[in-house]
Amino acid sequence: MKLYNTLVREKQEFKPIKENKVGIYSCGPTVYWNQHIGNMYAFLSWDILVRVLRYLDYDVTWVMNITDVGHNTSDADSGEDKMEKGAKREGLTSWEIAKKYEEQFIDSLDKLNIITPNFLPKATEHIEEQINLAKKLEKRGFTYKTKTGLVFDTSKFSDYDKFANLRLEELESGSRVEVDEDKKNPWDFLLWITNQPNHIMKWQSPWGEGFPGWHLECTAMSTKYLGETFDIHTGGIEHIGVHHSNEIAQGFGAFGHNTAKFWVHNAWLTLKEGKMSKSLGNVYTIQQLEEMGYDPLFFRYLVLSSHYRNGLVFSLESLKAAKTALNKLRSYKTDQISQVNLDFKNEFVEAISNDLAMPEAMAIVWKVIKSDLNPEEKWATILDFDKVLGLNLSEVSDVSFQISDEIAKLIEDRQKARETKNWAESDRLRKIIKNKGYLVEDLGNTCKIRPIK
Ligand SMILES: [Zn+2]
Repeated sequence: MKLYNTLVREKQEFKPIKENKVGIYSCGPTVYWNQHIGNMYAFLSWDILVRVLRYLDYDVTWVMNITDVGHNTSDADSGEDKMEKGAKREGLTSWEIAKKYEEQFIDSLDKLNIITPNFLPKATEHIEEQINLAKKLEKRGFTYKTKTGLVFDTSKFSDYDKFANLRLEELESGSRVEVDEDKKNPWDFLLWITNQPNHIMKWQSPWGEGFPGWHLECTAMSTKYLGETFDIHTGGIEHIGVHHSNEIAQGFGAFGHNTAKFWVHNAWLTLKEGKMSKSLGNVYTIQQLEEMGYDPLFFRYLVLSSHYRNGLVFSLESLKAAKTALNKLRSYKTDQISQVNLDFKNEFVEAISNDLAMPEAMAIVWKVIKSDLNPEEKWATILDFDKVLGLNLSEVSDVSFQISDEIAKLIEDRQKARETKNWAESDRLRKIIKNKGYLVEDLGNTCKIRPIK
């Protein structure tokens, strides 16, 4: 298996630290607002990574944190605390905001058939671990104190700029609203923040009452669940410059080495019409897509057609095309299945092992469908691939896979005719539907259709 490792800026052969076991840590959501399809793109990418490794028989432990304290509107120490901002916006407490948006996030995972991570630790439930890590950094001489709190001294870690190819001299604080003006360097970062009288979430610490900085939680929780050295750390490309550079610095400070062997990053979902913005009304959540009549798995299918390092240009047209494709794929379901075709399986394994080349893997799916294998062998092979694709193909019901948009519209029109007791029209539509290959059976106020074999 090859994976693109941001540490070396190239694809590397992936070898787990412990034979057959893989530990993965993914930077999770900050639960101050709805997670939209752009956020979910990242989590889907890592779900695919976990599924691929499990398909290749690795025993994977997947940890994803939930940030419910300490993340500012900028990833650095400037701007407002996101949780407090959400609380002000909605007239709720930070705790209520965290609960509300954690639920929305979990619901989105569920709807997209994203595997539940083995651990979903929350920052507020790991305050002690974070304090202990900060103490360790302090003891090892990587910190200094200011009026605002305990700061990580990046000058003590000579490779600080290496991971992100940062040009530190260009990182001026400029117009940023710095929380801490006493820092020696603008890119030094707060591990523990004190003296914020208006901040609601607060805990006691050796540096005074306060709360942890965002970067601290990921190093504290990844190493708690996966050990001081683990296999893969994932995140978005936006994390490279600040968040992950800081995590790497914390790892060196506390343990004397990088905590993760592979740092893997996804590019972004962007919109065809440009920027996603709340005022343009184009920031979709999975729940909204569902309300608009789209099965969330159509979105999953669309994401499978992209490579995580290229990102995805989203539009409703592309979502509709994904809908047509997935419904078509579902229509190949057979009642019985035979054996998995090993030639196609080998091709599929080759694609997914090459830095998760999902567009190629999806091309192999359609190659199977168009091949001259018998239908039962095709479906057995596709169901096997679905362990990676996660399209829930084993649960395709007899009805959902057979109805095209056209048939669905005819059925709907016929239902309307029946509601107005227009029996002649209802009969006429029944005949049209029959000519298109389906029998309609009326059941009280609803109906059932089945294909004419
Ligand atoms: Zn993180």
